[in-house]
Amino acid sequence: MTKAIGILGGTFDPIHYGHLRPALEVADKLALSHIRLIPNAIPPHRPQPLATAEQRLIMLQLAVENNQQFKVDDRELTRDGISYTFDTLASLRQEYPTTALYLLLGSDAFLYIQTWHRWQELLDLAHIAVMQRPGELPEMNQDTRIWYQQYLASSEDINLLHGKIWPVSVTQLMISATAIRSMVAHDQSTQFLLPDAVACFVKQNKMYSAE
Ligand code: ATP
Repeated sequence: MTKAIGILGGTFDPIHYGHLRPALEVADKLALSHIRLIPNAIPPHRPQPLATAEQRLIMLQLAVENNQQFKVDDRELTRDGISYTFDTLASLRQEYPTTALYLLLGSDAFLYIQTWHRWQELLDLAHIAVMQRPGELPEMNQDTRIWYQQYLASSEDINLLHGKIWPVSVTQLMISATAIRSMVAHDQSTQFLLPDAVACFVKQNKMYSAE
């Protein structure tokens, strides 16, 4: 069986170590061949990012250029319309019909999954790996909790191609893109929160200064 693939979508405005380190740990724990970082074009549930799609793509490429465990995937940027995860997983499933796929989600994102387009069908296409994210999180609502318990994975599910929810504990990094953008706007250093090459790109292109 070919090794499973991880998928981490987001605005990545900008990419930071709170994305990269937990994703790498999931890759190790679930023996993934690699993780695809997929920036969204038009996120369904949040305001448009401040950086352009091209800038976000370049920042991703800079962040992982020396790391074979990550690949940058621009399929949502080259597709028209709202960037629904369901459509992205459907296209990956078509490309990789016999490979296990794991959609990586921070616990904050998982809490609101029932607001996502065709959310209950996501497990027909991929597994979901939930990465514990630091900070106070509201309780899962009833629908999500029932769904979570129903599809919670056990160790013998490791050979399935899709269909299970895998909670994965990861190093807790209290880093968010929102905080980084605000630090840049206030002329504070962002060193050690994100890759140096990304921080340099932000500086050179005078990004986030207006926030
Ligand atoms: P913003 O602050 O702009 O909302 P963000 O830092 O939350 O951005 P996104 O690009 O929206 O970053 O996140 C993409 C995915 O990465 C989501 O599933 C999110 O939960 C997860 N994620 C982001 N930061 C962390 C973190 N520090 N630890 C674990 N997961 C994270």
